[in-house]
Amino acid sequence: MTEESSHIISEAQRLDEIWGTETMIRMWQQPLCDEVLNARVKHGTGKTPQNPDMSDADKLAILVSEVGEVAEAIGYRHRKNLKTEVLQVATMALLWYDSL
Ligand SMILES: [Mg+2]
Repeated sequence: MTEESSHIISEAQRLDEIWGTETMIRMWQQPLCDEVLNARVKHGTGKTPQNPDMSDADKLAILVSEVGEVAEAIGYRHRKNLKTEVLQVATMALLWYDSL
């Protein structure tokens, strides 16, 4: 192994430690879990896209509603709300994914 390729590998390992899958999962796990619980409390268990008996149309309506709240946060320049609203979009999409 050349010195250059060794440097490239160690740089790749360093970046993987910073941005690798496990790091990202650890970073996102708690906010996503918190938001799932918030959604269940707010809407009631079984009334999130995770419910396999809910129609796809209803799941899409929930997801689009959350996307609309992202647009609203941008429109009103509520940057503080933007992060929460984007998290809610991700959460609803993941719950839908989980139901499939
Ligand atoms: Mg929202």
